[in-house]
Amino acid sequence: MSFPCNWGRVHPVITDMAGDRRWSVYLRDGGCCTYCGRALRPEETHLDHDHPGIRVEEIAIEHLCCACGDCHAEKGDRTGVEYRSFRRVRHAHEMLHHLAGRGR
Ligand SMILES: [Zn+2]
Repeated sequence: MSFPCNWGRVHPVITDMAGDRRWSVYLRDGGCCTYCGRALRPEETHLDHDHPGIRVEEIAIEHLCCACGDCHAEKGDRTGVEYRSFRRVRHAHEMLHHLAGRGR
């Protein structure tokens, strides 16, 4: 399978992975951010993992997921579980705010 020539250059996050692994993760996740669900072009896809200090190519594909730049940056040092929990709580707060606003 051919590989977008600028993918690795644009995003150092995924530069040093073999092309097949990048594609495997991208295709498995449907080309979408696994946190917000946004559809991603290959060249804007970040590969996220919860193993700080470990090189990406040493991590099993099951522990890698696609993320958009916004989610990847916002996730920071959180684990995937922590970040999903953070997003759910924030969403709930926004919904409560929205419902409270409608009641006025
Ligand atoms: Zn996202």
